[in-house]
Amino acid sequence: MSAMLEVRDLVTAYGKIEALRGVSLEVQAGSITCLLGPNGAGKTTLMMTIAGILRPRAGSVRFAGREIARRPPHEIVGAGVALVPENRLVFPGMSVRENLYAGAYLRRDGEIEADLERLFERFPRLRERAGQDAGTLSGGEQQMLAVARSLMSRPKLLLMDEPSLGLAPLVVEEIFRIVADLHRDGTTIFLVEQNAHMALRVAHHFYLIEQGRITFSGDPGSLAEDEVIRRAYLGSARR
Ligand code: ATP
Repeated sequence: MSAMLEVRDLVTAYGKIEALRGVSLEVQAGSITCLLGPNGAGKTTLMMTIAGILRPRAGSVRFAGREIARRPPHEIVGAGVALVPENRLVFPGMSVRENLYAGAYLRRDGEIEADLERLFERFPRLRERAGQDAGTLSGGEQQMLAVARSLMSRPKLLLMDEPSLGLAPLVVEEIFRIVADLHRDGTTIFLVEQNAHMALRVAHHFYLIEQGRITFSGDPGSLAEDEVIRRAYLGSARR
């Protein structure tokens, strides 16, 4: 495996608050890599910086060997990186089908309908609700839609920001089944997760982020699970 994504010394700030204070990490092609860490550690900021929604103050982000930091979001999507944002953020007043077309807004190829059909096979509930406003879906269905919408851009790297947040245990299981399926079909996945137990079950590699810095990196098993979970929720500073 080689690094598909290389983040080096990344600094992102909100005014005077540095949310990322020199983050470096790699996501290997073909892997499921997880980012764990307590609230406010900088996980969402990192995902938004990689996706081009936030501009870093310093550092670099290389995707497939190309610098993408400071490129506009649509170019990053075009390069093959898609973000499933935290809290799903589907377009509530648009139908499920319209949300899915929105995910393909950069594509000019003739395979959009075929991809839509494949997604409806993968997510049968979305087919049943294709004409319904996205805002009327359950939380789990909205999460499926957010994932499916990002897949419409045919990403090579899928960034997922806390996909299980606020969902019932059975739905969480389903989300992780989808993550495993997407990975089997060749998508590289970089996942932010509060549910460390589930994350460690699917991940090949994980990073811990605390207060804007990576404090641990390893394979599941390289740190006792209860220690990972404790640091993922509380951070090591509060030992
Ligand atoms: P959570 O799990 O709660 O989503 P997180 O690890 O994703 O946390 P971030 O949302 O990236 O953390 O936040 C990192 C830091 O940046 C926090 O201290 C947060 O208060 C701060 N922050 C985030 N968004 C903003 C903003 N729009 N303006 C100012 N500060 C912000």
